[in-house]
Order: sequence, then C-alpha cells, then structure tokens
Amino acid sequence: MKTKKWLTSGIVSTLALAFVLTGCGKSSTEGAAASPAGSPAAAAASGTGPESLKSKGKLVVGVKYDTKLFGLKNPTNNEVEGFDVDIAKALAKELLGDEKKIELKEVTSKTRIPMLDNKEIDMIVATMTINEERKKQVDFSDVYFKAGQSLLVKKGSAIKGIADVKKGTKVLAVKGATSVANIKAKAPEATVLEFDNYQDAFSALKAGQGDTLTTDNAILYGMVAQDNKFEVVNEPPFTDEPYGIAIKKGETALVTAVNDALKKLQSNGEYNKIYEKWIGKAPSK
Ligand code: GLU
Repeated sequence: MKTKKWLTSGIVSTLALAFVLTGCGKSSTEGAAASPAGSPAAAAASGTGPESLKSKGKLVVGVKYDTKLFGLKNPTNNEVEGFDVDIAKALAKELLGDEKKIELKEVTSKTRIPMLDNKEIDMIVATMTINEERKKQVDFSDVYFKAGQSLLVKKGSAIKGIADVKKGTKVLAVKGATSVANIKAKAPEATVLEFDNYQDAFSALKAGQGDTLTTDNAILYGMVAQDNKFEVVNEPPFTDEPYGIAIKKGETALVTAVNDALKKLQSNGEYNKIYEKWIGKAPSK
C-alpha cells in the first residue's frame, strides 16, 4: 500500500479521535465505544437525526464541485466525483440503507455554512477543517481526514517554502477557507488575492496572476494531478487541517449516527477502499 508522507507529516491533534488515520489509511484506535446517550435508540427516540432523514427518504449533502480528488464535477459525464463524494454516498448507505438515497448540492468554502444554516443541506462533506471558531456555528463529526496547508507553485519558482512568501508576493486563495487567515498570519506582508472557488484560483495561477496558490496540501496535490507543471512546496505543511463532517448545531443525534457510520466504514474496510481509490493514486510530490 502506498504511503502518503504528506498526509501525516507535522500533524498534532488535541481532539479525542476515534478515527485517526495513518499514511496507509489505517486506524490507530479501532473499536472505540459509542456513548450510550448517542446510541441509535436514543437518536430514534429524540425524533431527530437519521429518523428525520428516513422520513425524507434521502440525505442532502453539500460537496465541492471545484476540488479534484475530493469533489469535482467531471465535465465529460457531469458526475461529481471524489473522496468526499464517496464518503457521503457511503454515509447514505449506512444511514438510509442505499447509497443512491443521496442528493448532492454544490457548496464552496464560503457558501457551505450559510447553506447548512438555511437547511438547504443536511450536512457538509467538503474538505472542511474543524476549528474552534467554526464549532460556534456548526457541530462536527470526528476527524475523517487530515491535511495541512502548503503552497502550490509553477515548477522552477523561487518560492520553495513559506519563508519565501514576503512583501510583494502575490498569494492566491479562496474565500471562506481557513487558508486566508492562516497565510495572513504567517506572511502578513504578502498580498492575498481571494477567489470564489479553487478552479478559478488555479486558473489565475496558470495565467500568471499570482506567484503561489495556498490551501490544504491534499487539494494542491489534486491540482498537480490536473497539471504537473505545478508542484507542492512547503512540506511538511505549516498548519493542521483536520476535516470533519459539519452538521447543523444541536443535531447531536445525527452527529452520533454519522460518527457510528464512520467507525463502521473504517472497520469494514470501506473507508480504506475509498481512500485508496482517491488518495492512494494521487501525486505525492
Ligand atoms: N480545509 C480548509 C477549510 O476548511 C481549506 C479547504 C477549503 O477551503 O475547503 O477552509
């Protein structure tokens, strides 16, 4: 099995993870017990979570359409494809018994929380970092993927790492992403240009409108898969970006059901299959 050095490097998490991944996509702590309060019976009794999904008959999930490897609309068949999309389908199967009982809706980094708030979607599975600020707005599942912020440059660029991002450097990023505040903190003198989505930001980099594009390494490796004239620099990453599935605040029964489903996907090998399909074959430098 291929090891992705870029997935694990530099990651330190304080979260109590039942679902920590190694570079091979294996669990370090299998078999964590579900809390009794969050049992399926409790969820059913509360009338929230999976029970309300069952009456609706489908799971409506916000995914990216602009992020290769995680959620990208394939122009040849109009299918939205990627790691997050397959995780979302696997959750539909666990929660509703059929992976086809799903409706995918496009979110961007900026629109995902408002769409959850408006109940346009039941959950967000979209490269979304768990952090304290967001926890005030949404509830999160356990971590299901770990990334960290890096830089994408044209091969041969003078930028080899974050220390080369300084006054006069034009950095491209996406609105609503953690990457914006992170780069401003790490390189306060640089100029940050913000785009609505990752494909627009990547097009701008290709057109020479910026010196580097910054976001999670996992997303940047997806861009390298699209055009190998570009490369990821600054490994290990300069932040930790643990991904969680975001659910409307207070929907604790649904959070528990999703966590139980994630554990099951991990123990029955389904998670590893999805991981290998998307991440195992991705570029690693
Ligand atoms: N994981 C980061 C975030 O949640 C960057 C990727 C994204 O924009 O979704 O903001």
